[in-house]
Amino acid sequence: MTLPLHTLGVAELGRRLESGEATSVEITTHLLARVAEHRQLGAFLCVDEEAALAQAQAADARRAAGERGLLLGVPLAHKDIFVTEALPTTAGSKMLAGYRSPFDATVVHRLAAAGMVTLGKLNCDEFAMGSANENSAYGPVKNPWDATRVPGGSSGGSAAAVAARLLPAATGTDTGGSIRQPASFSGVTGIKPTYGVCSRYGMIAFASSLDQAGPFARSAEDCALLLSAMSGFDERDSTSAERPPQDYHAALSKARDGASAERPLAGLRIGLPREFFPAALAADVDGAVRAALREFEALGATLVDVSLPRTELSIPVYYIIAPAEASSNLSRFDGVKFGHRAAHYADLTDMYRKTRAEGFGPEVKRRIMIGTYVLSHGYYDAYYLQAQKLRRMIADDFQACFGQCDVIAGPVAPTVAWKSGAQGDDPVAAYLADIFTLPASLAGLPGMSVPAGFGEGDMPVGLQLIGNYFQEGTLLHAAHAFQQATDWHRRAPPGIGT
Ligand code: GLN
Repeated sequence: MTLPLHTLGVAELGRRLESGEATSVEITTHLLARVAEHRQLGAFLCVDEEAALAQAQAADARRAAGERGLLLGVPLAHKDIFVTEALPTTAGSKMLAGYRSPFDATVVHRLAAAGMVTLGKLNCDEFAMGSANENSAYGPVKNPWDATRVPGGSSGGSAAAVAARLLPAATGTDTGGSIRQPASFSGVTGIKPTYGVCSRYGMIAFASSLDQAGPFARSAEDCALLLSAMSGFDERDSTSAERPPQDYHAALSKARDGASAERPLAGLRIGLPREFFPAALAADVDGAVRAALREFEALGATLVDVSLPRTELSIPVYYIIAPAEASSNLSRFDGVKFGHRAAHYADLTDMYRKTRAEGFGPEVKRRIMIGTYVLSHGYYDAYYLQAQKLRRMIADDFQACFGQCDVIAGPVAPTVAWKSGAQGDDPVAAYLADIFTLPASLAGLPGMSVPAGFGEGDMPVGLQLIGNYFQEGTLLHAAHAFQQATDWHRRAPPGIGT
């Protein structure tokens, strides 16, 4: 029996394209129909069928001319925080309604150069601020596993689209967890690389010292393919890491020293920070994560106890630094240069005030106010400077752990995806749920979410793997070995038509 095209991942589709069993036009047509059928998920903010089919035709022509590559002709869509020349970009904000960028983000450009077909742009929290995709000016995204729950955020559209088999892959960004947490809530695989691995050029800035792009897909193998194509030095981003291009996909099949077929992870030391397993951790999440860790042990890894003593402090530190940077980055949205401008105003100051009052949603305004406050004279030393010092200590704590282990593991989030609206008007409740993703973000380390089982309400649970700087290859390798031995990542939400 041939499997329907939407059930296949990136590498599987790539192999069909290579063998001539499918064309990009066939795959693209099939997925566009699924996207249209599943509008109610709210995952897409725009779809351009005609442009997608033209790209698919071009990919088929490149293949017919002898070009090869597993990404050539495979569809994806981009979080609407990456600017695109051919499609509108909103960042989930009314402020950018109708905005067209004169250029493509580097990540978008590189994936298109590899021959990937862009179906459209994906919903996200406004300016990537949120954990539930309930802060988008264009409506919420539903979790494909249970439409009464959130898909996670801020890259909720990306995670939901991949989980619902509308797409084999999508891009996202992670400032404090926005790839890992929605991947966990929606049962897909996602990786945030080391800060500087993917170019931030053309990624609408939220908190520049934290923002990183990364892929969502259904497996570590697929993430490795995507990351190889989207990463690499870019002279247009001054914080881009100057390193040679990496082939994360080829590295997956390289055996570790001393490993065997049965024990592919022999020698890998996995550190379990005790602060990642607090008494308050939901029992279902704890159970799924520990069961996954036993599987890693069966694959040859050893588990060691480590400590990240400042884990709790990562919440106040992040919620000072990220808003501080956001308040500065978002000052460019003043009604003069980009997007929305108030229709009626008395003078210049009134124009700024009305434009920003109308264009930004409540969470964005809250962060601009917090950020402006912590940077203001008299409070800078008390808040911002202190937060920066603690940020350094949090990064140092990780280095102490990496003396004892190769990767760190734990849950991605303290619970499974919560019910839509569950956090009402309590923003702090959502901030607290970021506790396990923020430390790696503050340290600039790579982190990954791997489907690891199910919890309350049959909702997916993600296992987080954190590596040392530039060790995304180690994370992908470990996750790939786990996925060869388990099938959590192959489970599809019920009723999505597999
Ligand atoms: N939930 C975090 C926040 O609201 C992380 C967001 C992100 O990574 N973009 O800031």
